[in-house]
Amino acid sequence: MVGYLLVVLSVQADPIRLPDLGDPADSTLSITREKELGSEVMRQVRRQQTIVDDLIVKEYMSDLGYRLLEHADAALHDFQLFVVDDNAVNAFALPGGYLVFNSGLILTTENESELAAVVAHEISHVTQRHLARSFSHNSKMSAPLLATMIAGVFIGGEVGEAAVVAAGAGSAQSRINFTRKHEHEADRVGIDLLARSGFVADGMATLFEKMQRQSRLRGGAPLEYLSTHPVYETRIAEARARAEKYSAVTPTDSEVYRLVRARLRVLTNETPHQLAADIESVLDAEQTSDELMDRYALAMALLEGSQFRKAALQLDIAVQRFGSSKYLELLKADIQLRQGQDEQALQIMQALRNRYPADHIVTLEYARMLIDAGRAASAQDMLEEYVIFRPGDPDIYKLLARATKVVGDNAQSHAYMAEYFLASDEADKAISHIETALGNPIDDYHEESGLRARLRELKGQQQGDPGGEIE
Ligand SMILES: [Zn+2]
Repeated sequence: MVGYLLVVLSVQADPIRLPDLGDPADSTLSITREKELGSEVMRQVRRQQTIVDDLIVKEYMSDLGYRLLEHADAALHDFQLFVVDDNAVNAFALPGGYLVFNSGLILTTENESELAAVVAHEISHVTQRHLARSFSHNSKMSAPLLATMIAGVFIGGEVGEAAVVAAGAGSAQSRINFTRKHEHEADRVGIDLLARSGFVADGMATLFEKMQRQSRLRGGAPLEYLSTHPVYETRIAEARARAEKYSAVTPTDSEVYRLVRARLRVLTNETPHQLAADIESVLDAEQTSDELMDRYALAMALLEGSQFRKAALQLDIAVQRFGSSKYLELLKADIQLRQGQDEQALQIMQALRNRYPADHIVTLEYARMLIDAGRAASAQDMLEEYVIFRPGDPDIYKLLARATKVVGDNAQSHAYMAEYFLASDEADKAISHIETALGNPIDDYHEESGLRARLRELKGQQQGDPGGEIE
């Protein structure tokens, strides 16, 4: 997809006169400006697509990203990885380190190295500054307009193509060549990154092959991701040849990778009863290719369909066959809570927290279950202690807003909502929540003056925003 973005972004750029590779000082777009542009486009993505808001999925993708970034050169940006609920097999990178992966792509991967290959490829577009280098000094397009166009394009289809045509200066062939050059480089740098991070270097090639097969099954209609890679036959061969240079690694998939795929399968499905029946028949026929994954997905689908006892039974079978784990315990607690067995659920969570005291998912899930079980004040205490270790995490603020609302502290609840929106790059909404917070009775003078100071700070930042021209 990045290919399409480049088509739009590079319309006024002459590829020949672009600065040399990998020298940020020569780049035509400052890091700060690139981040601003990316965050504007990301706002559009949030509006137009459904972000998969699942703690386990989000934390896993972020961990996977950082596992690769540890080995990347010149990571100038903070990276943020998002999963959107979209069956199309696609992923794209935005300026400023925003990486977006469709659920359809993650579900198409069959091992962790294949997923890591796509993440490495997208990271490489950003570290090689492909997007930034696609700008010329002459580009005077306003950020919001550009953002609208990019957003239009990656939604795909005719609207996107029309945007590309509307943006079009320069010949189609030169734009294609420019895109291909970047794709080529992202493959090369990405495979190297993949291998250096301990994944199977062949992951890129096997995933490309899978995508090619799928596209043939669909009567030759190209999958979204491959449509930006018009020469994928060559790319498969090149990816394979590159991978051969690296020593063979025995592939082992982490448990969480398999469970994330199981979760996505359920979370992006709208008919849990049907899905449960489908998985059950595969398991009954002993045709499962990954029993742990299937049992876990089945338990989740049954839970979604409110079939609590059956869900608990499937999870028990999974634990008996494969041993327990953090993720299986979390699901067990969730099922018990939904069944109304609050005490048992909270006991499991307390035991998990003793074992994993600083774990993000355990802490947030425990807090959520405390709120659901009517103990919002305990949740608030736990989260206010925890947020110090992970400031700026939107999920913590969202839960804190919920907990304080249940406790009855409306001003504080809106103040936390403001922090949530701020952490999600939505300054306007943050400001309006602080204003609402200040409209509530606040007993504590320090709290009130703190909120007023925060409001002044945010409004000042907005005015200081040059907002508009791309330099
Ligand atoms: Zn690409």
